Amino acid sequence: MFSLEIFPPKASSPVGTLYDTLDGLEGVKPSFISVTYGTGSDTDLLRTARITHTIKHEYGIDSVAHLTALYASREQIDRTVDAYVEAGVSAVLALRGDERAGIEPTGQFQYASDLVSYIAQRYPQLAIYGACYPEGHPQSISIQEDVDHLKFKVDSGVSHLISQLFFDNNDFYRFLERTQKAGINVPIHAGIMPIIQAQSAYRMTHICRSRIPARVQRLLDRWHDNPQALAQAGIVYASEQIADLRAQGVEHIHLYTMNRPCIARKIWQNIHDFM
Ligand code: FAD
Repeated sequence: MFSLEIFPPKASSPVGTLYDTLDGLEGVKPSFISVTYGTGSDTDLLRTARITHTIKHEYGIDSVAHLTALYASREQIDRTVDAYVEAGVSAVLALRGDERAGIEPTGQFQYASDLVSYIAQRYPQLAIYGACYPEGHPQSISIQEDVDHLKFKVDSGVSHLISQLFFDNNDFYRFLERTQKAGINVPIHAGIMPIIQAQSAYRMTHICRSRIPARVQRLLDRWHDNPQALAQAGIVYASEQIADLRAQGVEHIHLYTMNRPCIARKIWQNIHDFM
């Protein structure tokens, strides 16, 4: 199964720019497209709901709508999920969301698992996806502790997990072993982010606390001043990562498109025989 993640355009940009992204993905055959969720404002809610509606009804592709909990009240969650259901969404990615300095959480959902059990009970018709972290969540003390929390989240009602980006497949394989030992038996979609631009790669790995292996560092060092060569090397690296994952029996690949359809298309051309 091959799936994609896109994000809604900034509030200052017309939502139509996203449809250029979707048009640009023609030929790629994703099982679903997941749509990220921003700060939780009403604008974010409407954008994500509207985009998922279009993906479903105009492009005929299933969508998974992201949803964050930390700063939401139960009423806001109800309003958001109702909008998703109305948009034809059949699955949500239930997230805690990142902590924001100076803003007090509502205290109604402390962890993603709280949101998962709330949605599972209130919207039994929805499939619930959760996030996972092959290198451990940045706030966790150890990967093992994170996996223990993950087990609790899955038992709260998660049917699929989507992983954070990683560049070393061995980190993912070790993580799979840990999840199996912990009794986590739901499908885990491997999150792959192609390196397209040096600055954004450093920013993302910093935010996610993902390790940059020596081979990736060499690409960044060699091509940092040649964007075209770096993007091409990034496409090759991501394609090889996917080929290796598939060869090792990983069923589900989730590609972070970063709203760059031509990159997603090139990767798809390289890997569709493996899917
Ligand atoms: P949780 O599962 O709640 O975990 C957060 C931390 O709490 C972990 O360290 C965990 O070990 C710990 N923990 C969990 N349960 C317990 C417990 N019972 N006791 C003690 N500690 C516990 N962010 C957005 O804002 N919008 C998006 O659209 C978005 N999409 C994402 C998609 C994917 C695939 C991924 C991997 C991340 C995404 N994020 C998004 C980022 C995410 O919101 C952050 O990583 C956030 O910090 C954690 O969210 P979570 O749902 O994984 O949290």
